[in-house]
Amino acid sequence: MRMTVLASGSKGNSTLIASSRTRILVDAGLSARELTKRMRMAGETPEAIDALLITHEHQDHVQGVAVLARKLGIPVYFTEATHRAWMRWMMPQKRLTYAGWLAQRALQASSQRSAAEAGANIAMGSPDGDPESADPSADSAEPESAAPRPEAELECEARDGAEEKENPCALAVVEHFAAGNGFSIGDISVTPFTIPHDAADPVGFVFEAEGIRIGIATDLGYMPPNVTAALRRCDILMLESNHDLEMLRDGPYPWQVKQRVMSRVGHLSNDAAAKFLEKEYDGSASYVVLAHLSEKNNMPELARVAAERAIGARASLLANKVLLAEQSAPLETLCL
Ligand SMILES: [Zn+2]
Ligand SMILES: [Zn+2]
Repeated sequence: MRMTVLASGSKGNSTLIASSRTRILVDAGLSARELTKRMRMAGETPEAIDALLITHEHQDHVQGVAVLARKLGIPVYFTEATHRAWMRWMMPQKRLTYAGWLAQRALQASSQRSAAEAGANIAMGSPDGDPESADPSADSAEPESAAPRPEAELECEARDGAEEKENPCALAVVEHFAAGNGFSIGDISVTPFTIPHDAADPVGFVFEAEGIRIGIATDLGYMPPNVTAALRRCDILMLESNHDLEMLRDGPYPWQVKQRVMSRVGHLSNDAAAKFLEKEYDGSASYVVLAHLSEKNNMPELARVAAERAIGARASLLANKVLLAEQSAPLETLCL
């Protein structure tokens, strides 16, 4: 198994998980072009990606979803509520409601012999919308990721022919999953688990193949028992270490935003991550990857010191090596 964090932080998140046979991308929070570039930088072939999995609909996790999925012709896996929220974000003018999409899919299914295999086409709305009016709750805890307009729409508009303009951001295949219900993609088994965050239905994931277990938990306000249970026995643990509490308190965010980041549905602080690592983490991972570090309210060394102190004597050459995921470049590929 191998894992490459392509980007991590409130300006965009994406992580590649691969076995020798299957490649999965978790989130596509940068433009398709940038993600493709970073995959190549990491020695991966974008065309070989088998599926795209989405943790939640905040812009820093979905920015490139539509364009990347179409370009690569890969299925996108969402929970139903996240899919619905993503569509609302993509279609501020509500040209096609979720109910409309379901009706359209039913119509297509009846005209296709193997609808289950063929998947569903999503008709996306006009590229003229202003996403800021789409879903005010999205990204509210992550003001750094605020951007004027989903690039996906711009790219669809710019690149596609007349036929596709009717349906500018269609996804070839959508798969719905539910937190708590495991499923498989190729030889990788995927277990999604609920995380506390201010999105429609946010999840973290555990991936297992070839005897290796990788856990990803970012964008969560605290560590509830279901998350600590899911993260047991991980060989690679990717954990949020978003902010230093003092820096956040004294930092530039408006008080309301500070409150949201610190809340039970906000982001995990260095102290909260360290508390988990000290008290509840079983010490099983070869690598502990600290992720989603705030550029304004954290410093890499603060996050590192807190985590390393919490791991203490359990760190060695072969175990519990602390790494910091970055916003601007892929992290080294971790192979186990
Ligand atoms: Zn995020
Ligand atoms: Zn988020």
